[in-house]
Amino acid sequence: MIRTAIIAEDSKSLQDLLVHQLQTLGVQETLCCNNGEEALQAIQANPSHWECVITDLHMPVMDGLELLEALGNGNYRGGVIIASSLEDRVVQMAVEIALSHKVHLVGSLAKPFNTLELTRLLQKSREIKGLVPLEVKYLKQRELLDSISNNRILPYYQPKVDNRTGTLIGMEVLCRLDCPQGHEVITPDRFIPVAEKFDLIDLLTRQLMEQTLKDYKKLCQELGCEPKLAFNISPLQLHNPKFPTAMGNICDSAGINRGQIIFEVTERQIMNEKKQLITLDRLRIHGFGLSLDDFGTGFTNIRQLREFPFTEVKVDRCLIKNINKDRVSQVILRALSGIAEEFKMALVAEGIEEPSDYNYIAENFHLIAQGFLISRPKSIDEIIRWHHAWLKTHPLTAASGAD
Ligand code: C2E
Ligand code: CA
Ligand code: CA
Repeated sequence: MIRTAIIAEDSKSLQDLLVHQLQTLGVQETLCCNNGEEALQAIQANPSHWECVITDLHMPVMDGLELLEALGNGNYRGGVIIASSLEDRVVQMAVEIALSHKVHLVGSLAKPFNTLELTRLLQKSREIKGLVPLEVKYLKQRELLDSISNNRILPYYQPKVDNRTGTLIGMEVLCRLDCPQGHEVITPDRFIPVAEKFDLIDLLTRQLMEQTLKDYKKLCQELGCEPKLAFNISPLQLHNPKFPTAMGNICDSAGINRGQIIFEVTERQIMNEKKQLITLDRLRIHGFGLSLDDFGTGFTNIRQLREFPFTEVKVDRCLIKNINKDRVSQVILRALSGIAEEFKMALVAEGIEEPSDYNYIAENFHLIAQGFLISRPKSIDEIIRWHHAWLKTHPLTAASGAD
């Protein structure tokens, strides 16, 4: 659970009720403010301390939407919940503010507050801020070096499919380390931060790509199609001006067309240095695709989407989870879908786990779907088996492309 929350609400009885609910849910510190301005002052005094703001819409002095906008212009990085049932027009306005400023609107909550819904929104606020417990046992630098030098890097593949036809459009290549003791493979949360810290991340990307591209032609033959391959890169790697050429050389040596390769860059870490932006441009000039990963967790606003040379945007699973009933996420996805169309970017919904979310998205959007519901990341042999089974259960996949 989050630890701290600010309540902006002019009714004393609603303040008391909310404080009681938050305390019952395990929030340790709550501060009540009588209007937006009081809340803003308290947050500005210590922006990193507060994890969530729950604000009424109608308040004297400064209302909830003004507060949302002011928070977006400041250094506050937590979530904002609007404590009011919203008409469609107001949801639209709130989402517009959130997308054009740097602010995380988590959702809205009708009064009286439903505890389950409040819990869900606090959890979402926490996921967006990356506060989910990380009891991670990191690899030691020596262990990681050992894995790299002994070629124990394994590509795992997760399919990206057209959500209307089921056609396989691409695969995200997710890095795993083979475990010498023959236990389960090691997942990236245990070694990517180590690779970044000890300057091993370029080496890791290079080996992962070489390993993957070596098998690409065989993979295409087995699949009967040529899915694009997406590799994750850390924003740190964009500081290296030689990165695009090095990646181009790997593709050339393997005889793979660069148009088949996408680099995914997370928006969790801020990318604002000129050097990084130039490298992004150069990756495009070299013919690679570029995907803005984890949209919704960082602070890319609409203006930046126009400025960056992305060919794809991936909506993070915190916006996809429960989208079938979360109106704020629905409006955000609608806005993004419009932007993606305008800028001719592909739109990916990631982390789809529930049929109810998949169905909502399929009924309302035409995009690329990725998530455990379609397939977990798998080794090359398993993914080939998955595709055979997928073709049988999705007869539409034979149709080329979508409408
Ligand atoms: P990511 O780029 O956001 O990748 C998606 C992660 O979400 C993957 O975790 C995937 O297994 C997981 N995932 C996919 N669908 C679902 C779903 O429906 N539900 C849930 N709960 N999770 C889902 P994984 O493979 O553990 O990777 C974690 C992160 O590690 C990646 O997040 C990416 O940021 C990073 N990573 C992976 N490989 C590399 C790499 O080669 N280089 C760099 N720099 N980062 C990498
Ligand atoms: Ca990714
Ligand atoms: Ca992602």
